[in-house]
Amino acid sequence: MTILDGKKTAALHKEKLSAYLKELKKYGKTRKLALFLVGSDEASALYAASVQKAAAAVGMETVLCVYEERTGEDELVRAVSELSRCGDISGILPFLPLPKQYDERRIVDCIVPEKDVDGQTAASQGYLLAGRKAFAPCTARAVITVLDDNGITLHGRHVVIIGRSTVVGKPLLHLCLKRDATVTICHSKTKDLARITRQADILVAAVGKAGFVRADMVKDGAVIIDIGINRADGKTVGDVSEEATQKAAAYTPVPGGIGAVVSTLILENAAYGIQ
Ligand code: NAP
Repeated sequence: MTILDGKKTAALHKEKLSAYLKELKKYGKTRKLALFLVGSDEASALYAASVQKAAAAVGMETVLCVYEERTGEDELVRAVSELSRCGDISGILPFLPLPKQYDERRIVDCIVPEKDVDGQTAASQGYLLAGRKAFAPCTARAVITVLDDNGITLHGRHVVIIGRSTVVGKPLLHLCLKRDATVTICHSKTKDLARITRQADILVAAVGKAGFVRADMVKDGAVIIDIGINRADGKTVGDVSEEATQKAAAYTPVPGGIGAVVSTLILENAAYGIQ
């Protein structure tokens, strides 16, 4: 059984990215990522700090744009639009969800697709659906990156995704289709879930419930991708139970799997642009 080590994948990508940014610097060029944070949500602040740390480690500049929760919506719209126009900024990462009183779509959709490094705008989502070049949400892209880097092909394989969120399930559906996989999406209203998940060559869990995927839901020798991040008994755990991982040919651990790759891909997007 292979453990698909996200930390290793991230380290390899960071090494290349760091070399690329060093090379750019020789020609007086830099890349700068703007982190757009509204309010004082602790998880968002921690995530922003970890992205800043990762950026510093590869030699990318960041600018932290923090707004108090009482900031007017029009002001936030103006701020994002300005970042979108600023020639100095190569990527914008808004930390979502924004506080409830804001029309999140109105603010986020002011990010131009070329700077939407986590594929969060309606424009990027539409481009992805239309098969045009765009940034995809980095959690979904991390799944493809980890599979690619471990030599696991999607062509002709049956991928079953549990979860249909805009950040994970839906974009991943398109990324897998692009690689010629056959894809099934399941959700809370899916009937006889285990019968469907047992057909998966590659099973992706993005549910947000600790140990949700049981051993009887997995085909022997399947590849399991665990996207879930849950707290249970004081520990961070995924959506897949330990017994289920025992049946897999390969699986991503939590922590140290998909989650370990995401911020590196955000930095790559800010550095390389849409590819
Ligand atoms: P979400 O928006 O809450 O979506 C959860 C999905 O699971 C929904 O589609 C829901 O179905 C489905 N679901 C819930 N109960 C189910 C059941 N009993 N049977 C089948 N499907 C069920 O969550 P998310 O944002 O996609 O995140 C999912 C997990 O991934 C969370 O643990 C989150 O923390 C983690 N995550 C990790 C990263 C990372 O960087 N590693 C990034 C994003 C998210 P309905 O649509 O019918 O409600």
